[in-house]
Amino acid sequence: MSEAKKVLILGASGSIGTQAMEIIAGREDLEATGLAVGSDWQTAVAQARGFEVETIAVADPEAAAEARKNFSGNVLEGESAARELIGLTGPDIVLNGVVGAAGLGPTIAALTQGIDVALANKESLVIGGELVTELASATGARLLPVDSEHSALFQLIENEDDSALDRIVLTASGGPFRGRTDLEGITVEQALDHPTWAMGGRITIDSATLMNKGFEMIEAHHLFNLPYDRIGVVVHPQSIVHSLIDLKDGATLAHLGYPDMRVPIAYALTWPERAEVPVERLDLAKVGRLDFEEPDPETFRCLALAREAGESGGIAPCVLNAADEVAVASFLEGEIAFNDIPRVIEKTLDDVGSGPARDFEELFAVDEASRERTSEIISGLN
Ligand code: MG
Repeated sequence: MSEAKKVLILGASGSIGTQAMEIIAGREDLEATGLAVGSDWQTAVAQARGFEVETIAVADPEAAAEARKNFSGNVLEGESAARELIGLTGPDIVLNGVVGAAGLGPTIAALTQGIDVALANKESLVIGGELVTELASATGARLLPVDSEHSALFQLIENEDDSALDRIVLTASGGPFRGRTDLEGITVEQALDHPTWAMGGRITIDSATLMNKGFEMIEAHHLFNLPYDRIGVVVHPQSIVHSLIDLKDGATLAHLGYPDMRVPIAYALTWPERAEVPVERLDLAKVGRLDFEEPDPETFRCLALAREAGESGGIAPCVLNAADEVAVASFLEGEIAFNDIPRVIEKTLDDVGSGPARDFEELFAVDEASRERTSEIISGLN
């Protein structure tokens, strides 16, 4: 038997990370070679023991100290721990399941070393898409999408000639407020109640505002090298169709299945092979009906803001993401209203302005400046 593919998991305690570990546990051709978490050292230590992983990374220093007391292996700590772990363990593939802008550094580190990245951290492409895709093609490393829509598109597109592709269409569940035209007075509890996908706090709010779909348009633009006028969005509340492609001969191909992240995670980790994944098989008769509707970018302003930022390119998507991270955190803390999220983001985009993204240092500086500006705007509201 050939040697197992060595997988490094970043964000191992999160929803993507734990499901990835489940897939690795069931396969002899995959081996966990390192784990990184933010602060959940208990999960990391339990996983490391279960998978015989010798080195883990715990970003938070206090949590790292606890991990050391309870784990005989090596514990790296601090903000650069995930990057160090990549260098130290030399994986074949890095699964980046980090949430937010913090995921960009590890993506750069892996790609620089020519290591493939299974990308669940969409911010890597939202913030740094132009530079990240350039880096990947320079080192020959691959970006394998884990986001369900992009995995679907990747699977559909890879069997077609570039010249055959007309456009791609991302499906959106529409979130808990689908169909509403007034988003005044929405509470944190209401916004956290996603109808089809169980996910972390930030991405759930991003799904409720449709910013998540906006980020996904930007992600798709970079992954598939398509202009925004060839990227559509359709609302599909059942989340059975994960995305579609229109071909030049009039055929439309769709990728279907029950919403289950183990499918895209397994596809990215075992590509170009297909794994046996123990998910429930789709029964369309049981599903009964599939509904589709136009998105409403006037009510869900974040979708329009993301498209505009994507079209301007350069630093604009970086500003968009930074402002969104701060605004969503602030909403979850009860400091601003749900409707303030797009207002605060739009104001940040106006204030910080646009321009080219020349290098990653510049993007990190823009990210920081945008966060500061968003915080000031929020303080001005209260
Ligand atoms: Mg998605």
